[in-house]
Amino acid sequence: MLSKSKAVNRFYRSEAWKQARLQKIVAANGRCEKCGGVGVDVHHIIHITPENVTDPDITLNPKNLILLCKDCHNAEHERFKKGNAPKFDSEGNLIPY
Ligand SMILES: [Zn+2]
Ligand SMILES: [Zn+2]
Repeated sequence: MLSKSKAVNRFYRSEAWKQARLQKIVAANGRCEKCGGVGVDVHHIIHITPENVTDPDITLNPKNLILLCKDCHNAEHERFKKGNAPKFDSEGNLIPY
């Protein structure tokens, strides 16, 4: 049986996520939706947690996704740094804690 954090990691490796991520990048024309820079990371507006990772309305809903450049993505996560927000590498993959 998978632990909760493994369920989150598994989600980020899923085909469904890869598809949703690609569709978001295409829909946003590859541009950061905050500053218009080069969009590299698809960010979840409602952060993924072990509790909501099984809910496609959060994990795969285009309305919960935003394409960000590296700087805007870092700034977005900086705000949650003191909490338990998940962290991402440059490819938008979850860094296991
Ligand atoms: Zn940006
Ligand atoms: Zn993010």
